[in-house]
Amino acid sequence: MKNAEIIAVGSELLLGQIVNTNAKFISQQLAELGINVYFHTVVGDNPDRLLSAIKTAEGRANIIIFTGGLGPTKDDLTKETIARHLSKNLVMDPQALESIEQYFARTNRVMTENNRKQALVLEGSHILPNDHGMAPGMVLEMNGNTYMLLPGPPKEMEPMFRQYGCQALVSKETANEKIVSRVLRFFGIGEAALETEIIDIIDAQSNPTIAPLAGDGEVTLRLTAKHVDEDVAQSMLDEVEKAISQRVGQYIYGYDHTSLFAELTKGLKERNLTITAAESLTGGLFQKELTSIAGVSSVYKGGVVCYSNEVKHNILQVRQETLENDGAVSEQCAIELAENTASLVGAAIGISFTGVAGPDELEGKPVGTVYIGIASKGRPTIVEKLTLGGTREAIRNRAVKYGCYFVLKTLKDSQNAN
Ligand code: ATP
Ligand code: MG
Repeated sequence: MKNAEIIAVGSELLLGQIVNTNAKFISQQLAELGINVYFHTVVGDNPDRLLSAIKTAEGRANIIIFTGGLGPTKDDLTKETIARHLSKNLVMDPQALESIEQYFARTNRVMTENNRKQALVLEGSHILPNDHGMAPGMVLEMNGNTYMLLPGPPKEMEPMFRQYGCQALVSKETANEKIVSRVLRFFGIGEAALETEIIDIIDAQSNPTIAPLAGDGEVTLRLTAKHVDEDVAQSMLDEVEKAISQRVGQYIYGYDHTSLFAELTKGLKERNLTITAAESLTGGLFQKELTSIAGVSSVYKGGVVCYSNEVKHNILQVRQETLENDGAVSEQCAIELAENTASLVGAAIGISFTGVAGPDELEGKPVGTVYIGIASKGRPTIVEKLTLGGTREAIRNRAVKYGCYFVLKTLKDSQNAN
C-alpha cells in the first residue's frame, strides 16, 4: 500500500516567517487520490539535515514529495542533495532551459548565469513543466520509491501539482479510475457526536471513503468514490449519503462550497421572502455576514443594532415592563425585538439576538446565555435559548451561525408543512 511523506524545505518555515500551506494543499490533493499521508516534515536550507530527513522518510514512506529549494540561489539545494544521495547526475534539460529563456524574454528581464541552474534536472526523471514560473518539477522512480520535487511558491506549485503531478502518482491499474467527491456540510451537531452516530458506516467503508473535518463550529464530511465509470461513482456517493442522511440528515445544510449564509440567502430568494434583524449581543455581525453574500439585496433591506436598552425601547418599542421585569437578556425581549423589527422594516422574517457575550455576567445571567427570536409572518414567534461556551468572540460568532441555521430550519419546516 502506497503512503506518502511531504518534506517542505525552507528555513523561513522554521523561523515562523511563513506557514507551510504547501503541505496542507498537497495533503488535501493526496487524500482525494486515496493516498495516505503519514508524515509532514519541515527542514531548513541545510544539506545535512535535509539528507537526514530524506533517510528517515525512506524508512517509512514510498512516496516522498519535496517542496521548495528548486530556485536559482545558493540556498536552494533540494535537488543537489537528492542527486548526491541517490548517486544521480544533474543534467541540463533543454526544454526547461528554453522555457526559462522564454520566461525572461516575455518578462523583459535579463537572465543571469545562475538561472541556468534551474534547468538542471535529476537524470532519468520525468519532468513536470512549470507554467507559472521557471524551475521545473520532477518525478524520479528509484528503489521502489517515488521522489517528487516541486517548487516552493504556491502559485507555481499548486497548478503544477494539479496539472502534471497528480497523474504521476496514480498507479497504472487505477489510472482510468475517476475520482469524485462530495462534501456534506453540517451544523448543530459536533464532530464527536456526528462520528458516534455514523461510526459503523465509516468503519464499513473503503470506497467511498468518508473523511470528517471540523472547524468554525461546523463539521463537514467529504465522501470520495473511485470507479472507472463516473456515473457509477456518483451513485456510490448517493448511496452513502442516503445512509448518512437517514441518521443525521436534519443537520445537513448544504453541499460542497457553500455556507450557512449563502444557503439562507438562496432559501429566502426561492420563497420570495425578506429578512431583517435586531442585534443586541451580536452588534450587527449577523447582518455583516448576510451582506457579504452577493445578491442579498433582494431579500435584505436593513435592520437595527440595538445594543442599549434605550435603543431597544425607543426604536424597537420593547416594553419598559419587559426590560424591567424580564431583562434585556430574556425570551420575552427576544420575542419583542424579532416581531417589532420585522414590522418596522416590513420584512417577512425578523430575527433577534440578545445574550451575554462576557467576560462578565449580566442581569444575573451567566456568560454564554443567548436568546434568538424568530418572527415569521403567519406563524407563532419562536425563541431558541442557547448556552454557548468560549470567548466573547466565539460566543458572538456561534450565535450568528445558530441564528442563520434556525431560520433555515424554519424555512424547510414550513415547506414540509405545506
Ligand atoms: P524560488 O525559485 O522562488 O526560489 P524555490 O523552489 O527555491 O523557489 P523556496 O526558495 O524554498 O522555493 O521558496 C520560495 C518562496 O515560496 C518562499 O519565500 C515562500 O513564499 C514560498 N514557499 C516555500 N515553501 C513553502 C511552503 N512549504 N508553504 C508555503 N509557501 C512556501
Ligand atoms: Mg528559492
